[in-house]
Amino acid sequence: MSSIKILKPDELIRIGYEPPRTAWMDTPVDFRPGTWSYSAAAKNLTYLDLPNPRAWQPYDENWKLPENWKQIILDGMRERLEKYRSFKLFMDLCVRCGACADKCHFYIGGGDPKNMPVLRAELLRSVYRRYFTESGRRFGRLAGARDLTVDVLKEWFYYFYQCTECRRCSVFCPYGIDQAEITMIGRELLNLVGCNINWVIEPVANCFRTGNHLGIQPGGIKDMLEFLADDIEDRTGVRVDVPLNRKGAEILFVAPSGDFFADPGTYTCMGYMMLFHEIGLNYTFSTYASEGGNFGLFTSHELIKRLNAKIYAEAKRLGVKWILGGECGHMWRVLHEYMDTMNGPADFLQEPVSPITGTRFENARSTKMVHITEFTSDLIRNGKLKLDPRRNDHLRLTFHDSCNPARAMGLFEEPRYVIRHAARYFYEMPEDTIREKTFCCGGGAGLGNDENIEMRMRGGMPRAMAVRHVKERHDVNRMACICAIDRSTLSALMDYWVPGVTVMGVHELLSNALVMKGEKERTTDLRGEPLKERTDDETL
Ligand code: SF4
Ligand code: SF4
Repeated sequence: MSSIKILKPDELIRIGYEPPRTAWMDTPVDFRPGTWSYSAAAKNLTYLDLPNPRAWQPYDENWKLPENWKQIILDGMRERLEKYRSFKLFMDLCVRCGACADKCHFYIGGGDPKNMPVLRAELLRSVYRRYFTESGRRFGRLAGARDLTVDVLKEWFYYFYQCTECRRCSVFCPYGIDQAEITMIGRELLNLVGCNINWVIEPVANCFRTGNHLGIQPGGIKDMLEFLADDIEDRTGVRVDVPLNRKGAEILFVAPSGDFFADPGTYTCMGYMMLFHEIGLNYTFSTYASEGGNFGLFTSHELIKRLNAKIYAEAKRLGVKWILGGECGHMWRVLHEYMDTMNGPADFLQEPVSPITGTRFENARSTKMVHITEFTSDLIRNGKLKLDPRRNDHLRLTFHDSCNPARAMGLFEEPRYVIRHAARYFYEMPEDTIREKTFCCGGGAGLGNDENIEMRMRGGMPRAMAVRHVKERHDVNRMACICAIDRSTLSALMDYWVPGVTVMGVHELLSNALVMKGEKERTTDLRGEPLKERTDDETL
């Protein structure tokens, strides 16, 4: 955990919801340690050819902005109001009904009114009114308008980097106002004058340089996958293949790079490899498309497009028929909401058909990309996998719906279908904290860094409390999820709020239960932890 000092959980949970005495426009931003993220390093901005590379930090008095920074932002806002109809609507539409006010995890966990979605949007809307509406130009503050100043820019930076773009608030808005879209535009405007965070920009730069967020070279990926194959052999006695950059393979498999390199994601990666081996899938990993995640989503529409295009360029180069995607979060939001209009349709690929079951994935007709839990649940439904769920009897599970597959895809049933066939003890968290109402991990959209640790723990508090509920009621000790960022941030969140609960991917769970041809008797799970002793003599 971070070197930044953070209060103990029983102190942090004493949240003050009283608003400040001053009006919101007169309450300056306070860059308190633990609540913001470091600025992007100049070398990363230079690499991506982004504006105003320099050394600075958010707590500096002087942000070293370009001389004409205000004009750059206002021109950028005008351009986006003309280009994105949704942005214009969201600036005009809000009726201040307040339905979203208490739905953001950062407001619930922190009590800062500017983390209410309605007020977060107002930070941008007030400037829109001042420069782009007649009432704002004439009546200024009376019409909810204000000048764009350096202090306003600092406020944007602080609060748009305290929004994980999770879209929970939009589920409750009667007008469908999507705060994530507003935050995206806010960040895009900040980017125009070089105000961005390193935890977003460095992964983007790494992705362009080496193919993945972590900056791992092709040889490193090969070594890591071979190492995971060794571990699989150790646990199961079965040696799995590691197909890499294989031209003419039927399927390109793209996973978040966190699954290659960081525990507990590596166990999920072992799960993918075991599954593909067992069904004899003709597939390949790629060292060029070695990242499913797309941190462009947290930077600008232009970078979303460029990063997404990389996966499809690789599919074309390798000559595959279609693409299978792993347990990633925002990769799927990009795929479902942007791919088609940005880079699609991917007509050079074929409509995905499972080579094992013959199922045609019509939902992927345009993107030609299928989610791994859709693929696996179809295998189970067609009786293609032999599973022994008792091998997961040492786990009492709950499932966290990751924001993007849940709210951007509606992917609720497939992961649960896999879990229910792979394990016997599964308990849902309370209804208003799962499925489309799921609470964010608190560390998405580039905020899962160490310097931002207090806001992460505050933002993750509502999710953690729901986990604590099932831990106390059902003795839950493991939370499954289908997102690499979640696997990382939820682990730290559980250590802080609900010690004793650990985190796993759904395909780790599946492969614990997967009975492979020629395997030895399994005595441990993929982590090397002993399986629960059997008290019955049931056979499969
Ligand atoms: S973090 Fe999520 S709930 Fe909060 S304002 Fe942003 S999109 Fe809405
Ligand atoms: S729920 Fe929608 S309309 Fe109501 S205050 Fe929030 S953003 Fe505005």
